[in-house]
Amino acid sequence: MSEQTRLLVLGRQGSGKGTQSMKLAEALGITHVSTGDLFRREVARNSALGRKVSTYLDKGALVPDDLVIDVVMNQTADLAGWVLDGFPRTMAQGQALVDALDDSGVDLAIELDVPVHQVVGRLSLRRVCDGCGAISVAVADDDSIQLCNACGGHVGRRPDDTVEAIELRLTSYDRLTGPLLIWLDSLGLLATVDGMGTADEVFQRLLAVIAERLVLSVETVDAPTSG
Ligand code: AMP
Repeated sequence: MSEQTRLLVLGRQGSGKGTQSMKLAEALGITHVSTGDLFRREVARNSALGRKVSTYLDKGALVPDDLVIDVVMNQTADLAGWVLDGFPRTMAQGQALVDALDDSGVDLAIELDVPVHQVVGRLSLRRVCDGCGAISVAVADDDSIQLCNACGGHVGRRPDDTVEAIELRLTSYDRLTGPLLIWLDSLGLLATVDGMGTADEVFQRLLAVIAERLVLSVETVDAPTSG
């Protein structure tokens, strides 16, 4: 295990990259940096950055590259190891990241592969707590608000998990993130992992790929307990 490991987790919206990135960060002792979570926090705080990005988030459109690149550079500047969740998403972001890093660069980019029809179903049932950010699965696709068992916050649909915004986000994934994946692959940095199955099944696949590609021993990584 290395606390200096630098990972990128990519995948369609709803592919589970948030959940898996958190698990990886915990297991590898590195910092989880999610641009989506960061922007949502800024919107909730109504900060200057939040006001700049809120319309993009609500529509499901990408925040302009220069703004995102700035935010990520600031967030990662003092960190040795990290897992970037939701960044980069465009060629310009990928190039800026590789250019900004020293020789150690990125260790591995992992794409969680989940078919489009599956992620549409997952997104329509995804619910998020506005207090602690916990993600849950609704039993029905309605707009009722529940109280969070963990923190008492409001659990509801994300503003960008509407049919229109989901469509826009998935289209921009293919159009803008697609070429980035091809580029990362050409650099020998990309591993594609099947994102179907339970969170623990997917996590075991991720650990195996990381162990294989980074010559780490799986035993050195805390495996999760299932159930
Ligand atoms: P996520 O939670 O990763 O689905 O991100 C939520 C929203 O934040 C996206 O739909 C974008 O509006 C914005 N966002 C997050 N990461 C990026 C990025 N790397 N580039 C542009 N916009 C982003």
